[in-house]
Amino acid sequence: MERRTGSPYPPRLEQIVDALPGQVAYWDRDLICRYASRAYLDYFSQSRERLIGISMQDLLGEVMFRQNQDIIDGILRGESQSFMRPMHRLDGSAAIVHVTYVADRDPDGTVAGFCVSVNDVTEFKRIEEQLRENEAELTTLVRRRDEVISWLEMAEGIAHVGHWRMTLPDAGLTWSDEMYRIHGVTRDEYIPEAKTALAFFSPEDRPRIQALMRRTLTEGLPYEDVGCVLRRDGEARYVKTQTMAAMGADGVPKMAFGVVMDITDQQRTEQALRVAYERLEALVHVDGLTGIGNRRQFDESLGLEWQAALRTGQPLSVVLIDVDRFKSFNDTYGHQLGDKCLQAVAQAIRSVAYHARHLVARYGGEEFVMLLPATDRTRAVRVAERARHAVAELGLAHAGNAGGVVTISAGIGTAETVQPGCDAQRQLIAEADAMLYRAKARGRNRVVSHLDGIEAYARDHGVSCQLDLP
Ligand code: GH3
Ligand code: MG
Ligand code: MG
Repeated sequence: MERRTGSPYPPRLEQIVDALPGQVAYWDRDLICRYASRAYLDYFSQSRERLIGISMQDLLGEVMFRQNQDIIDGILRGESQSFMRPMHRLDGSAAIVHVTYVADRDPDGTVAGFCVSVNDVTEFKRIEEQLRENEAELTTLVRRRDEVISWLEMAEGIAHVGHWRMTLPDAGLTWSDEMYRIHGVTRDEYIPEAKTALAFFSPEDRPRIQALMRRTLTEGLPYEDVGCVLRRDGEARYVKTQTMAAMGADGVPKMAFGVVMDITDQQRTEQALRVAYERLEALVHVDGLTGIGNRRQFDESLGLEWQAALRTGQPLSVVLIDVDRFKSFNDTYGHQLGDKCLQAVAQAIRSVAYHARHLVARYGGEEFVMLLPATDRTRAVRVAERARHAVAELGLAHAGNAGGVVTISAGIGTAETVQPGCDAQRQLIAEADAMLYRAKARGRNRVVSHLDGIEAYARDHGVSCQLDLP
């Protein structure tokens, strides 16, 4: 230091260095202390008078001196040293210090001594450590986020579900991978935009979706909608969209989010199932041989018409029909012709039904039934008579039957006022059955109703009876 007396350094340099928080000292090449700053003196609990002129060995003690031997040798060779090491502060707390040895060379290059600077960098190290941890955490988070996104994209691909996000108010739109697949475009071919995205929908869907979307974007109201996306290759995909909005503190949507599900396959499956179900439903109600309604159809229709008649108070009639001497027909002409005969008879009976609610069904075997809503006994007899004529007029040869052609017999059952319950329905059928039995008994090829039955009974038994005709 004395070598620099008279140098251009400011005169108060010593006070300035004393004010530094770090320790500064100067040792000459004989390892005698030539200068020590206030912090250096404080650390070694020495006064300046005692420290200046002390040897390093004396100050550090033998053990510590040896520990520093390599560093001292290095700096005396003119190699600056810089390292970190742990240290205890004066208050006993642990610290990390950054130590620098800078060589002081004479103009001829020989090392005259060196300057030691010791700075407490514990706080920096802590911050550095913290930063490293934060960075590691951030890297992990980014990796996890990327992982989650790739899982999401994978899941979306499997489920045919895509999503879009829109930042507001700039309407910046982002699509997930599956959105591109659903719309049949690649990321290179299409850049999502609020306006052009709407154009993927069929023209009739656009105004509705636009109105719904506006409500999500301005009021934050979610919506669920099914629309048809027309791909550029001409394929139509049905998509179900569900939206929601993230609201800002000011109550205005800041972001909108939409989940888009491709439900085309589902729609097609449902459609196919619907068609299959309708066919099945029809099959269940149709007689396989004649193509008219079957017994199930009749039973269900009777139940429904019964309820309707209960409400309206209108009458309800049924006509039970049986082909005359049909066993003999089969015996003579064979079962196959018998089947053809039943088909022709069914069509002939059906031809006389003039109202949409008139039902003609095959009751079983060679028996048919007509269900005539809002029809009283007299009109039912007329309908049955027309059916009898229609069958006879077919002129189907039937050698075993009176008249040589196929004929039918019919019995009428009428509920002038319908009563609730299944018993009442069974009674109506029983009445028709009883009348059919009488028609057979009275020679076939005829229609018999309850009134005829009473008249016939009176005639057959030679009694007179007063009829209370409606
Ligand atoms: P009735 O005038 O008293 O009614 O005499 P029927 O011979 O018609 O009466 P029966 O009940 O003894 O015979 C009915 C016949 O109808 C017996 C059966 O072989 C025939 N039959 C029932 N269902 C079918 C069918 O689906 N196809 C054919 N070919 N014959 C049938
Ligand atoms: Mg029969
Ligand atoms: Mg018969």
